Amino acid sequence: MEWLIIGGGIHGTYLANLLMHQPYLRPEEIGVLDPHDALLAAWNRMTTNCGMRFLRSPATHHVDLPILSIYRFAKTPEGQSLADFIPPYNRPSLPLFRAHSAGVIARNGIAERHIQGRALTMSRDGQRIIVETTRGPLQTRRVLLAIGMSEQPCWPTWAQRLCREGAPITHVFEPAFHPDDTPANRPTLVIGGGITAAQTALSLAADPRADVVLIARRALQESQFDFNPCWIGPKCLRNFYLEDYDTRRTTIDKARLPGSLPGEVLKAVAQARDNKRLGFRRAVIQDAVYENGTIRLQTDTGTLRAQRIVLATGFRPERPGGRFVNRLIKDFGLPCNPCGYPIVGKDLQWGENIYVTGPLAELQIGPCSRNIVGARNAGRLLMASRAAD
Ligand SMILES: Cc1cc2nc3c(=O)[nH]c(=O)nc-3n(C[C@H](O)[C@H](O)[C@H](O)COP(=O)(O)OP(=O)(O)OC[C@H]3O[C@@H](n4cnc5c(N)ncnc54)[C@H](O)[C@@H]3O)c2cc1C
Repeated sequence: MEWLIIGGGIHGTYLANLLMHQPYLRPEEIGVLDPHDALLAAWNRMTTNCGMRFLRSPATHHVDLPILSIYRFAKTPEGQSLADFIPPYNRPSLPLFRAHSAGVIARNGIAERHIQGRALTMSRDGQRIIVETTRGPLQTRRVLLAIGMSEQPCWPTWAQRLCREGAPITHVFEPAFHPDDTPANRPTLVIGGGITAAQTALSLAADPRADVVLIARRALQESQFDFNPCWIGPKCLRNFYLEDYDTRRTTIDKARLPGSLPGEVLKAVAQARDNKRLGFRRAVIQDAVYENGTIRLQTDTGTLRAQRIVLATGFRPERPGGRFVNRLIKDFGLPCNPCGYPIVGKDLQWGENIYVTGPLAELQIGPCSRNIVGARNAGRLLMASRAAD
């Protein structure tokens, strides 16, 4: 193999598509290793579970190469019935985005490049890299790490303890989570102040029997994007590239707005509150107790009781990849900033023939690195270098 992409999410899928279109590469020279039974499985699961209806990003951010591909798809017989965009920036509906992605994967034979398995360790053998996986060793010339955050949902300490005690508490991004896994009429608290929490609360509250309260640390904050779009291009990135890696980390953390939601979701929450379908409480959780089937939360604004808690508290901020990436850093002597994230070249090369995208590339790509457009920017950097020769 010439390229083994580790991770078959949005980033891995887009970059496989891009590499497969390079004239000097044959499709058989590219592999996408991912433990799920299909590409984009984690994306499809998480977006279903939180009841997302429209993407937050514009219709030009997707896994195909031509920028207007979703618009074209929306005019085809297959896409027409799903064609649905909302302002601002013409954001596509989730069903449209999904059908478009599935079409791109099928049309370009990307699913055939999927190798179902998990990378465990890596070593070098001359010019080749050997990746030990759950389905045996794979040999490749180059590796692209496209490992996102989806395997590290964030569980606050109090929630971990309740879970160990057998309380009915779950995280919306856990593979085992299913919106219908408990009777709707059990008083439910959804914890979190961002778009995922709001969408999850709204979708659970859609059941007329439901009793759902959204709990956030502060008033809900409106923002169209989870970062200022100037971070996609040179307007903001020009100065970012002049910064040292510590300053880049601070810049990224300041620029990203994880606990915010676009206007239409904020409006839907306000309507649901007005109609008494959804409760809202501003509260900082201080302690939690599970007794006789009821969870009691001690907060700075009083005590709350529930029979089910759904966490929508995002992802743990640490570098993704867990033991696999930790070991890689040790075995290959790969450089990291004190924040734990890779220090990579302009061509996204971390070590000889080891490349990164997504969160692992954010000290080079900037605040948009984790998003769909981050994959497209990563593709530009990879192609601009001689990496793909
Ligand atoms: C609910 C939700 C909605 C979002 N909406 C938007 C949006 O509208 N617009 C936008 O731009 N962004 C959005 N994002 C942010 C981001 O674009 C998505 O999270 C995107 O799916 C990230 O893709 P990824 O490929 O980086 O990561 P992931 O989806 O995490 O995929 C990485 C894959 O790598 C696999 N993997 C991990 N370790 C290994 C290993 N050792 N070996 C093999 N495989 C491994 C994982 O199992 C996973 O399948 C959203 C995120 C969420 C959670």
